[in-house]
Amino acid sequence: MKKIILAIDGYSACGKSSTAKAVAAELNYTYIDTGAMYRAVTLYFHEHHVSLTNDKEVEKALNNIDITFHNNAEKETETFLNGLNVEDEIRKMYISEKVSHVSSLAAVREAMVAQQRKLGKKSGIVMDGRDIGTVVFPEAELKVFMFADVYVRAGRRQKELMEKGQLVDLSDIIQNLEKRDKIDSTREVSPLRQAKDAIELDSSFLTLEEQVDHIVRLALGKILEEKKETISA
Ligand code: C5P
Repeated sequence: MKKIILAIDGYSACGKSSTAKAVAAELNYTYIDTGAMYRAVTLYFHEHHVSLTNDKEVEKALNNIDITFHNNAEKETETFLNGLNVEDEIRKMYISEKVSHVSSLAAVREAMVAQQRKLGKKSGIVMDGRDIGTVVFPEAELKVFMFADVYVRAGRRQKELMEKGQLVDLSDIIQNLEKRDKIDSTREVSPLRQAKDAIELDSSFLTLEEQVDHIVRLALGKILEEKKETISA
């Protein structure tokens, strides 16, 4: 069966990653979390005191960054930065507070987009982020754009953080989400935009299962369409 590229974009914390991960598992596709890549770059910049206004420092740092994904014993994908597992560290609030500034740099985006295109070279991938359907894979067969009420998003994020032992005020999370969305949507290089051919999905009142089910159905419909086109060509 022909494999497709599935791009899931949208605002911060509307369930893109959890949904994309589960959709990939159902379809037996590879899942790529591009937010994790920008978070890993942010961690490296933080640890090496890279100045965002110094182009040379940024370039040098980018040349020293190697991001990979590996499955753990539970078959969950974890992010590695230069061989070290940074999955927990990159989800912390201090990274969330810096990541949108780092991801708005043209040099950072150029480096990450090149890696994302390489990772997605063979079809059969589900990639989530902000610019997947518009910039990374404008030719993706299925594009979904997710959004949700900010209180719902913040509540879900707070629960996730709590499960990892981090207690964060709801107001701090709301502030962070709104700030990131604003920076992500207004940056000069590949801002967060809904692709013209993307299907909208409001996840405010949907369970994870419902979101996954909806996207899997859309994907199967697309795969069937592609198959018909191949047969009639
Ligand atoms: O998806 P997640 O919320 O983990 O992404 C963290 C940040 O990475 C976003 O707020 C955004 O600044 C950046 N990002 C991006 N482009 C992507 C994915 C994430 O700019 N494709």
